[in-house]
Amino acid sequence: MHQAASEAATTLRLALSTAAGVAGLAAVRRKLSSDYAQRRAAMALAKGLLNTNRDCLKVLATDGTMLRVSEHGAALMEAESPEQLAGADWLSFWSGDDRTAAQNALTGALGGASTSFTGSCATTKGRTKWWNSTLTPVTAGDGTVVALLCASEDVTQQCELLKRLRERDELMHEMESHVRLVFYSYSSHFEHFHHVSAGVERVFGITSQALRSKPSAWLDLVLPEDVEPLLAEMRRIASEAAEGRFEYRIRRPDGCLRWIRSTAYPVRDESGNVVRIVGVSEDITLEQERLAALDRLAYTDGLTGLANRSALVRRMKALCRQNVAFGLMFIDLDRFKVLNDTLGHTAADRLLKDIAKVIQGALPPDACVARLGGDEFAVIVSGESDKATLATLAQSLLNVFSGDVRKDHAAPFVTASISISLYPEHGRDHEVLLTSADIAMYAAKKGGRNGFRFADQASSDVLGDFELERSLPAALASQQFVLHFQGIHEPGSLAVKGVEALVRWNHPTRGMVGPCSFIPILEESGFIVEVGAWVMDAALAQLAIWHSAGRKGLCMSVNVSARQLRDDAIVAIVDEALRRHKVPPRCLEIELTESALMENPSLAQATLMALKRLGVRIAIDDFGTGYSSLRYLADFSPDTVKIDRSFTARLGHDAATASIVRGIIQMSHELGMQVTAEGVETEKQLQTLRDARCDHVQGYFLTKPMNADHLVEACRSVMKQHGQNGESLLAENGCGSGDYHK
Ligand code: C2E
Ligand code: MG
Ligand code: MG
Repeated sequence: MHQAASEAATTLRLALSTAAGVAGLAAVRRKLSSDYAQRRAAMALAKGLLNTNRDCLKVLATDGTMLRVSEHGAALMEAESPEQLAGADWLSFWSGDDRTAAQNALTGALGGASTSFTGSCATTKGRTKWWNSTLTPVTAGDGTVVALLCASEDVTQQCELLKRLRERDELMHEMESHVRLVFYSYSSHFEHFHHVSAGVERVFGITSQALRSKPSAWLDLVLPEDVEPLLAEMRRIASEAAEGRFEYRIRRPDGCLRWIRSTAYPVRDESGNVVRIVGVSEDITLEQERLAALDRLAYTDGLTGLANRSALVRRMKALCRQNVAFGLMFIDLDRFKVLNDTLGHTAADRLLKDIAKVIQGALPPDACVARLGGDEFAVIVSGESDKATLATLAQSLLNVFSGDVRKDHAAPFVTASISISLYPEHGRDHEVLLTSADIAMYAAKKGGRNGFRFADQASSDVLGDFELERSLPAALASQQFVLHFQGIHEPGSLAVKGVEALVRWNHPTRGMVGPCSFIPILEESGFIVEVGAWVMDAALAQLAIWHSAGRKGLCMSVNVSARQLRDDAIVAIVDEALRRHKVPPRCLEIELTESALMENPSLAQATLMALKRLGVRIAIDDFGTGYSSLRYLADFSPDTVKIDRSFTARLGHDAATASIVRGIIQMSHELGMQVTAEGVETEKQLQTLRDARCDHVQGYFLTKPMNADHLVEACRSVMKQHGQNGESLLAENGCGSGDYHK
């Protein structure tokens, strides 16, 4: 504007100084007024253009002074008016690198080129704004640059957005490369990656570049057995356009085995088409290891390291689901409680561990062996439903038991009872099979232990037991119990020195039932106390009859079970029976098993002492089957030791057993006890016992249990058979001399 004004003034002076005529003056005036109008129009147009432009437009003098600023430009610079900025040094707005860039742009434009740069400068209010500035030279007719036009576009918003984006990008990159996660974006059918985060190096051990050039590079790391299920899941996700999750193992290039969990989510466009699949892959090795440790803990038996009950049930459920035939075996050690009490818990635990190994060693490697608790083990033999094969397996287990386990432990026998239930024959679910095996175990125990039972045999037996149990109260009331008696003989003369009372149940429909079938039921129901009292009374009544018939010294042995011993009424029952029948207490011997004594040793000790004070004798029955230490022999100081028939059975063909028997006899004698050998069935056994100086013998070879009348007859005939005069011995030496127990 200044320049235009000065040019007009110059023109005017020139015109006035020219000595031209009036006409010439008028012409000059006309010309002048038309030039001036043109210039004013041009200037108005320029101003209009300046103000319509959305940029901050400035006219700069060649020294950088701002000659004019558009109105919009002033507003962008937050100035009150363009005049506020006019005259200011344009370069002074910039600082630092931006100032250098501005200077360069200015110099370039002064040189005739159009230049531009991007930089930030503060508005008049001090707010920083970003500008894209272009400087265009304004030249005179001769090409001289007389001014510069500077257009600055306010790009603050874009720059801030860009900055924010860049910061977010950096943050994402930092996060992605530091966490053990891989974020990915896959094409909709898993053909190629759009994006794989830097975490892939940490998780998979390969770079994202490698994946971009070969999208299946990660699949090459997956363990062969996991590949197919993984691909199947990927195919499902792609075809159903549904989200999915898969876990698999990879072998990283550095050789490490890692567990990976990948999740995938299909992303759809507006029309519902899947455009990509995004997801995350993470390393879950630690989690898997913890889970595995927890799993081990939850499904392992702490003592033996075998599977536990939960693991067994899990396995059974799986086999039932898959409909695979299998056999379930329960293995329960016989009389383990006594062993535990006498060996001590540490030694018993060691024995259980050894037994675990023995069981494992005796079974096919794929059999699942579990410890259910205490001395209960269980085995699943999968794929096997043949009874003969399972029976052979059970028998071989029983054989190795007594053989293998015995070697390392002081206990004379470790026997077990085995029950077997079969899928699907005995049940189609694990609960039924477990119950069937339980019932079969009950029957196996009742059947004399050291044997095995299949579920079907057993369940009918148990049903029979329930029926027996129901008829018990009536049995006692209607006198269905009877006593049989078995002779206890002097080994040389075979004279009957004593008699053992053995109870039987003369069942109205089942006939004569042996005590093994109902004593456990009596014990469990507590009925044994009443039935035991009846036995005591009936046995002493019979003894009184024999005594009054002249067999004065004859002794009566009566069995008393653990349950009876727990009831302190036993002392009064015995005392009253002795008084009622006027039998000398020395003629009564009470037989207790080792297990009965060991069930509660201190209580047993107290009751025993009370019985002893009455003057009755005490015998340890079934000696040698209870795994007991010999300590209790001293503690309980019995009068008689009855060697179990399982020892007698081996006499004659087992030198070791003969030595054990001789040892027991010798030791008992030294402790002032007498010895009776049970279960003598052969002449040879009898002879061995004679040689070993056994005090008394009992067994089918001599007399079987029978009713009182038959026994007298049987005693006569056995003595005759063996060349003795039975009649006189029974009357004079056996029952009359009173020297059975010295
Ligand atoms: P126990 O006291 O050891 O009785 C000996 C068992 O061996 C009897 O079986 C007897 O019949 C049997 N036996 C005797 N000699 C031989 C032989 O040479 N060979 C063979 N194989 N066996 C022989 P039983 O009568 O079946 O009695 C079994 C068990 O029942 C008894 O064993 C005893 O523990 C218990 N018991 C019997 N009667 C009573 C009773 O009144 N009360 C109690 N609490 N238990 C009883
Ligand atoms: Mg007995
Ligand atoms: Mg016995």
